[in-house]
Amino acid sequence: MNGEPAPIVEVFASFQGEGVLVGTPQVFVRFAGCDLDCLYCDTEYAKAIPEHCKIYSARGDVRKIVNPLSLDELVKVINEIALPDPNVEWVALTGGEPLLYPEYVAQLASRLSEDKFLVYLETAGHLPEALEQVIEYVDSIAGDIKLPSTMKTPVAYEDIYDFWSVAAGTDAFVKFVITDAVERGEIAGLVMDELWEIIGPLTAVLQPCTPTAAAKAPSFELLWSLAHEADHWFDSVRVIPQCHRLLGAR
Ligand code: SF4
Repeated sequence: MNGEPAPIVEVFASFQGEGVLVGTPQVFVRFAGCDLDCLYCDTEYAKAIPEHCKIYSARGDVRKIVNPLSLDELVKVINEIALPDPNVEWVALTGGEPLLYPEYVAQLASRLSEDKFLVYLETAGHLPEALEQVIEYVDSIAGDIKLPSTMKTPVAYEDIYDFWSVAAGTDAFVKFVITDAVERGEIAGLVMDELWEIIGPLTAVLQPCTPTAAAKAPSFELLWSLAHEADHWFDSVRVIPQCHRLLGAR
């Protein structure tokens, strides 16, 4: 099984800096391209397709491979980066938006499982048909719910609902990125009614944004209020900032 190659921005080893697996050593594969426009985006460089994929070893060596990468090339690189460190169990597929390449992601995840890796999918949570193609091959999912106030163009509610109809019942959690523009009641307004019935049993992570030119970090008071609000709808709620930033890591 070896489908069309896909454009990759970078492959690197780091500690997972977000969500419920925070602190876990992982190999990250950052796919190129994204069809959304989050005001807090901290990976704008991943939205275009670069000529080369950069490969960073944990020792600091950097090399390049011409894009797009075949499955064989990428699986070899991942194994090379993970091999010196027996603690690396997880491979994170991130972006950009990895679900723009569902066939490739499904095949990659399948190959990585054969190599005894666990596969962690980080996605913006708006491409349900693509998720359907990959879900049987991934072990855990970090799915965003994009709050309208954090977007230049809001994600359609139907896409969010359909995505979580597929993801609910798997090892998944919901991530809300919080900026100072988020309003009290915004989480409840999106989640209440039928969406709550499928995602209520999950954990919600509220992630205060790392400030950008277009988005400021929320105050403690706003975070506290939103965490209290989310607690009404979700099984458990955690507030976790981007910890890799604190380490100066990728
Ligand atoms: S989905 Fe991710 S890559 Fe795309 S604009 Fe939002 S933060 Fe940036």
